[in-house]
Amino acid sequence: MQKQKLSSKIRVTVLPQRFEGFSEKQAKFYTKYATIAFKTLTNPLFQRFIDWMMLRENIDEHTVTNVQIRAFPLRKENGNGLAGRFNKKGEILIYPKRLEFCRKLVQELEKESVYFYIKVRAMATLVHELLHIKYSCDEDKVRQLTRKYLSIFTRHRNSQNMNTQRILKILFSP
Ligand SMILES: [Zn+2]
Repeated sequence: MQKQKLSSKIRVTVLPQRFEGFSEKQAKFYTKYATIAFKTLTNPLFQRFIDWMMLRENIDEHTVTNVQIRAFPLRKENGNGLAGRFNKKGEILIYPKRLEFCRKLVQELEKESVYFYIKVRAMATLVHELLHIKYSCDEDKVRQLTRKYLSIFTRHRNSQNMNTQRILKILFSP
């Protein structure tokens, strides 16, 4: 069987029925968000990192049917937004952070950092869901390892970014 790269399984999915109820401004924001997430996750350096991590953790990539970057956020019943999900069909679904949250973040950090936040969040979500394949319901272990791997990757890539630690903190605070 031919080995299919994880990067070739990543795509952006817009569910048509979900477009309803969003304003033009929101639609524009989420489309841009999905584009950033897609570029981030298919980036060759990040893909190499993912390959290395999966090898190291002994995660079989055949378990993953595809990775879907969903353009619109999903709200869980408890009101919290969901970052990602790995379902029984072997699909990893990645959801965006809400526009309102990103707007607030712009007031706290500069725009460039919010951009960076979106990238790191997309990477963290994919790493997190991949780790769930191996550690299934062990949420603590998955969280701890996600943080560890993200720190390794961002240290390597963005050592000059002063906000990296701050963003990791925002991302991983409970
Ligand atoms: Zn989890």
